[in-house]
This record gives sequence, structure tokens and C-alpha cells, in this order.
Amino acid sequence: MLWEELRANQFSDCIRMSGGVCLLPIGVLEKHGNHLPLGTDMYTGTAVSKRAAEIEPSVVFPYYFLGQISEARHYAGTIAASHRLLMDSLLEMCDEIRRNGFSKIIIASSHGGNAHFIPFFLQEMPRLNRDYNAYTYFIPELKKEQTRAICDYAKTEDMGYHAGLTETSIMMHLRPDLVKMDAQDPHEGSNHNRLADLRERGVDTGFNWYAQYPRHIAGDPSPASSELGKMIFEMMSENLAEIIRLVKADNVSEKMIKEFRLLGEKPQ
Ligand SMILES: [Zn+2]
Repeated sequence: MLWEELRANQFSDCIRMSGGVCLLPIGVLEKHGNHLPLGTDMYTGTAVSKRAAEIEPSVVFPYYFLGQISEARHYAGTIAASHRLLMDSLLEMCDEIRRNGFSKIIIASSHGGNAHFIPFFLQEMPRLNRDYNAYTYFIPELKKEQTRAICDYAKTEDMGYHAGLTETSIMMHLRPDLVKMDAQDPHEGSNHNRLADLRERGVDTGFNWYAQYPRHIAGDPSPASSELGKMIFEMMSENLAEIIRLVKADNVSEKMIKEFRLLGEKPQ
């Protein structure tokens, strides 16, 4: 069930059918090598969420592109909003989803650069006294055996972190018309390893990603194919459907949040 396709008078039935679970697919608009479109995370996040919601009924919020992407602002088409705005805006979206009747929100990210932003956002929830729970899940997360099957199929160990084997294959499956393989030099996605001596000792900086992958591609997309993309797409959709099931089955959060709110009113 896609939020934007529902009529207002269907809403309460859909909330009931979805067990109060709304999926919020989140990513960014950013360069994906020279061969994939800016909206690669958007196409993947939307399609996987839609498929997962068909397997395990839930409502999918329209794709939300205000994610963390400062590291790609040097490339055309990137929308890199301030982190303050990202936090405020995501909270207002979640509050609006709650106001419309959902009590469980799965913030399903299709973009690796949100890996710190969303958990940090969620860490403020105990301070905010909301009466809903928000969960986060990384859509590209694969099980060990799934990763093995993909590498065996493509005869490589390089899945690629960004615009590599995985993302390219999925786009070849979802939108082959938007993939231009001959526009990308396959060697550009190698690690430049700048600041590696610091990273090895656990020292990080805000330029971590740029230091390694300045061309905004990580991995070699050459072995990608639409057949592999279909396989990965189905794996991700099944995985997300399992997460929706788990969230629906969560009967601890509601009580626990109430308890925490009461305790917070009278700190001991
Ligand atoms: Zn991506």
C-alpha cells in the first residue's frame, strides 16, 4: 500500500491491515559513478519497500530524499542539506505519520551515508516523549549466505560499497534504460586509501569517505547483470518483509515507552 495512492477514506482500514506499521524509505540524491542515475538509492529503496509491503502488508511513505550526503556535494545533482535540517525534518515527518494513525515507523535506509545520522536521530527519542516507536533498518543489509550466493554468481568478492556490483545490478533489473555501463571506467572505484594510517588506529574524520573514494564510486561494477539484480532485489525485499513482521510482533515497545515516560517525569 503506497501512501500516495490511498484515498483519505481508505486510511483507517489500511492502518488496521498494516498493524500500524509505516515504512519510510530514506536515501539521498547523489552521484552514483558515471553509469547510474542520481536517484539510484531512491529507485532501490522505493521498489524494495513496495515489494516488501506486498509480502507483509504495511503502508509505504513516499520516498524521502533528505538524508546525509555532505561527502558528495562536489558532484552535480547532489542535494546536501544541513544536518540540523535533516534532524528537524525527519522528526516532523515521523510526527505526521504518527498523527495520521501509525504507531510503528520503520525508517528503511537505502543509503550507506545515513549509517550515523539515523541512529543518532533515534537516540533522541527517549528525550522527546513521543508515544510511538521508530525503528531503523538498512535495506542493502544481506545475510551471510546471501552475500556468498551473490559473490559466487558474479565470480567476484567485490560487492562494491557504492555504485558497484550490487547497486548496478539492481538498477539493471529495475531501470535498465537509466544504466550506461560504457560511461564508467571500472578502475575508478578503487580505494585511494588516503588517511589509512589514521583509520587503522581508529581515528576518523569527516573526510573519511572522500579520502578513500573521491570519484564517488566504490567497487567494480563490471560483473553486474540484470539477472543478478533480480536475485538481489528479491533477497532485499524478503529481508525487509521479515523485518516488518518482527516489528509487527514487537509488543514490548509500547509498554516500555509508557513506563519510560512516567519515570522521566519523576527522576529518582
Ligand atoms: Zn546508492
